[in-house]
This record gives sequence, structure tokens and C-alpha cells, in this order.
Amino acid sequence: MAKRDYYEVLGVGKTASPDEIKTAYRRLARQYHPDVAKEDPKAAEAKFKEISEAYEVLADPQKRRNYDQRGFDAVESDFGPGGFTWQNFTHQGDLEDLLGSNPLFQQLFGSFMGGMGSPTGRLTRGSDVEVAVRLPLTAAIEGAHPTLEVPIVGPCRDCHGTGAKNGTALEVCPECGGSGQVRRSRSRGYTQFITVGQCPVCHGRGQRILEKCPVCGGAGRRRTVERIEVTIPPGIEDGAVLRVGGHGGRGLEGEPAGDLYVQVVFEPSDHIRRDGTDAYTDATVPLAIPLLGGTAKVRTIDGHAELKVPAGTQPETQFRMRGLGFPRFRGSTRGDLVVTLHVEIPRSLSGHEKDLVREALGSDAPTATGRQSFFRRRS
Ligand SMILES: [Zn+2]
Ligand SMILES: [Zn+2]
Repeated sequence: MAKRDYYEVLGVGKTASPDEIKTAYRRLARQYHPDVAKEDPKAAEAKFKEISEAYEVLADPQKRRNYDQRGFDAVESDFGPGGFTWQNFTHQGDLEDLLGSNPLFQQLFGSFMGGMGSPTGRLTRGSDVEVAVRLPLTAAIEGAHPTLEVPIVGPCRDCHGTGAKNGTALEVCPECGGSGQVRRSRSRGYTQFITVGQCPVCHGRGQRILEKCPVCGGAGRRRTVERIEVTIPPGIEDGAVLRVGGHGGRGLEGEPAGDLYVQVVFEPSDHIRRDGTDAYTDATVPLAIPLLGGTAKVRTIDGHAELKVPAGTQPETQFRMRGLGFPRFRGSTRGDLVVTLHVEIPRSLSGHEKDLVREALGSDAPTATGRQSFFRRRS
């Protein structure tokens, strides 16, 4: 099959924005996922792989630039000798909400979602990284796309992750002959037991370093900071941790990257308390409002709303404003905003005002119990 231009594969223009590319990829992924396209799963998988390869390149600014300038040759070297495989795909996090619960998806990506090493036992998968992101409470309603600075450990560029000077000061491991594995046989009676294990000299790498890379000291890895935009879905709870697959530390020797875990922490609000999908707030109105009826201005999570207060409303009454709470995670509805109404009593009245109140509300001075009801504490 002749290779098609990546932009053509995703059906986007050469100047498409990262968002447009992502949207196009997600739309096609939904269409061509083998489990969805049941009539010809094999063709669908080939297609799914084709769009995923295109996305892997176009979603990465550096790879996209290289591809724009020099075509397939510029990026194919990233994928190893056999071309693109699922091991090269680092954006499974972009599909997880679409297909994450799909068994076929898990099977396809399982090999590098479960954090297993390669079959030879080389422990070169990238490490997992956890970062926290602080967001205003309004992000719980709208979601957010913060760009995070993620400290990751990736292959050292000077030695291409080998740990050897210039990446060349290496020899084939004399212990295992380059396989990274050693066979040990042991006899017990007439039975011979053969065990295969990681080579103790090269730790499964198959190569031995003759001279260490002076930049990384032979570790083959270095710390860098990567900027990654993550999507925080609406309705997420304070303190929740999101997994962004494949954005942790880079793997060595073509092994998968680790995962990025993002903890979402909301900035405390001075006027909203959260309990699940319900929000709680307070509003204070002058005495005339509950006496005569009127409206109270209420601060909501992300703005203001008007609350109708009927005449005769008692102080500390709670009102439920439907749909002004927090969204349900991955749902379309929202909880309520519960407003506790406080009544402001005038601190001083003129003699004339006092006369008017006596005339309107009765001449008796308020009793001790009556007074208490006005100052009853919020429970
Ligand atoms: Zn060895
Ligand atoms: Zn190095």
C-alpha cells in the first residue's frame, strides 16, 4: 500500500491547528476502530493504524516540522526499522475517554498501558510522572486545557540513550553475545532445568559500555522539562488524578514512555462550598426584602444570579437554585446551588422610623425569644 500524505490521511489542511488535527483524528478513530467497524475489522485496523501514525507525527510540533520540510524520511527514523508500530504511539490518552473501556482498545494498547517491560526483560520503559495543576473553581464547570511543565527523564541526546560516549563506545556484551539473556542449566537427577534470565553483565542491554557518556555519566537518561497541554474534563472533583498515557518519562530503545498523572487542585473559593455536584453559598439581603418580597443577588460559581425571595421568608431559609451547581463528571446535567439567605437588621433607626415600625408591626417591644430568632446561627 503506497503511503499517503499524513494531512490527507487525517483529512486536514497543511495549516490545520493542533485542535483541528486532534478533532479530525478522534473522529476517524471512532469511525475506524476495529471493534466499531465490524464488517471488516482487518481493514479497519490497518486504517486505524494509518491515522494513528499520521496523528503521532502531526500532533508533535517537532515531528510535524520535520515532516513538513523533508517528508516521510524525516520521521520514519523515529519509528525504527519496521516503520510505525503501536509501540511508537504516545497519544493513547487522547482516545481513552472515547475507547478506554473498549476491550479491543485495551488489548491493542495494553502492552504499553500496563507498564510492562519488553519481552526480553529490559527495563527501559519510561517512568511515570505525577504533577499537580491548580485551577480556578470555574474550571470545574467548563473544563480546562492547561499547559503543564512536566519534569521528565528521557534518553540522553549525546549518547542516544546508550550511556556510551557519543553512542558508539560500545561493544557486544561478551557474556551474553548481545542477546541480553543468559541461559543457566542445572541438573537434578536425570532432569535438566534450563532457566533464562537477564544477563548480569549488561543488564539485558546486550551491549557493554567501553567509555561512559560524559554528559549523563553512563545512565543514558537525562532530566528535561516538557510542556504538555492536558484536557481537564468538566465535573472533575477536587484532588482527582487524571492519567495521561504516554506523557511520562521517555522510554529507551523504542520502549514506551511512562504515563503522566495530573492531580487537579482547585483554588479555594471565598463564597462557594462544594459537596459533590451541589454548591453552597450565602446571600445577605436587607430586612425589607424578606418582609415585602423581592430579589436577592446571588454569587454563583462563575457569575451572578437573581434569587426570588417571597414575602414572609424567614432568615436562614435555604433555597435550591436548580442546575447552578457543578456538572456531573462525563454527564450533561448539573447539580444545584443551595443558597442560605441571611437578613441584615438595620443597626440604628431614627425616632421617626421606630414610630413607623411600631405602628406597622405592633407596639410591643420584641420578646427575648423573638429577638433570638433573628440572630439564629446558621446550622
Ligand atoms: Zn550481556
Ligand atoms: Zn549520555
